[in-house]
Amino acid sequence: MSRFLIDKFASLVPYVPGEQPRDMQYLKLNTNESPYPPSPKARALLDDKAASLLRLYSDPTGFELVQALSETLAIPAENLYVTGGSDEALYYAFLAYCDEKTPAVFPDVSYGFYPVLADLLGVEAKRIPLREGFRLAAEDYFEAGGTVVIANPNAPTGRAITLDDIRAICAHNRDNAVVIDEAYVDFGAESALKLLPEFDNLVVIQTFSKSRSLAGARISFTAAASAMIEDLVKLKFSINPYDLTRLSISAGAAAVRDTAYFDECRKKIMATRDYTTKALRNLGFEVAESLSNFVFAAPRVMSGEEFYLAMKARGVLVRYFSAERTRDYVRITIGTQEDMERFAAIAADVIKEAKK
Ligand code: PMP
Repeated sequence: MSRFLIDKFASLVPYVPGEQPRDMQYLKLNTNESPYPPSPKARALLDDKAASLLRLYSDPTGFELVQALSETLAIPAENLYVTGGSDEALYYAFLAYCDEKTPAVFPDVSYGFYPVLADLLGVEAKRIPLREGFRLAAEDYFEAGGTVVIANPNAPTGRAITLDDIRAICAHNRDNAVVIDEAYVDFGAESALKLLPEFDNLVVIQTFSKSRSLAGARISFTAAASAMIEDLVKLKFSINPYDLTRLSISAGAAAVRDTAYFDECRKKIMATRDYTTKALRNLGFEVAESLSNFVFAAPRVMSGEEFYLAMKARGVLVRYFSAERTRDYVRITIGTQEDMERFAAIAADVIKEAKK
């Protein structure tokens, strides 16, 4: 820390992203990327146009991408805006809708970026404990008294709530924004996009990092009532209007329109998730039913950290979280079927060793 950093950031503890090893000696199952390449249509475009596209600034409204989203998802363009990844979209939502009087309200076990954003912005983080088995009870949010932020499905548990739950939370919080982070929604949960016409307080954020295989391109969209989109665009244009590159806007638009490839990849991941869940249960793991592209599993015969270290020593990266409620678990991203067969064989070896 330099002597110039202002006081309020002296004690800021930043989010710790999952490891991104420089060499690819690992089977990488730690940061929930897709194991499949981006849509061939997005790839063709990158090859042909990359150099010439980058000469000019990008369109700060990301019009090409907004139009592709609007047509594909049947959402009016005035209810959409795009940002460079959903971490950025979350930042704008916190900035717009939380302050000293309006805390951010989210589950005690959820995405680690939420408390960091609250801390960064100097707003209270009101954490609501998940119930037994990491279940989110909608009624726990009926008097939230702040901006509700819920990942659905939740990370790192993979558990989802229903559209009725979200409807009830929005209805009970008419004077607060309700932000639903749908990073993992394409792997089996119900999207709250359907509820947009009913609520002027609902903000839905989705990313291209998981189900659209474009984590490195940094693309996300936010859908909300047009007045809220105006708020958020005002902030984006005051901070980083050119957040999405020209390549990302065009590749994102191509990926959105390629619905066949999108469906093919997410179906494969869901089938492999079911295989992985069974394989882990056969090895004695406790595995919560996941509707995301990862599973949250407790090895039982060892801690999450011990399993993580044993797997890493054998060339497989998974993620563990050291907080009290999560330290018995690991989060395992679903790779290809072959990846997960290899993973299961190596995990079997680790568990056998631990039992000796
Ligand atoms: N929300 C959740 C729940 C996540 O797990 C992640 C991935 N770390 C993100 C948002 C951010 O994703 P991205 O910035 O790549 O869109």
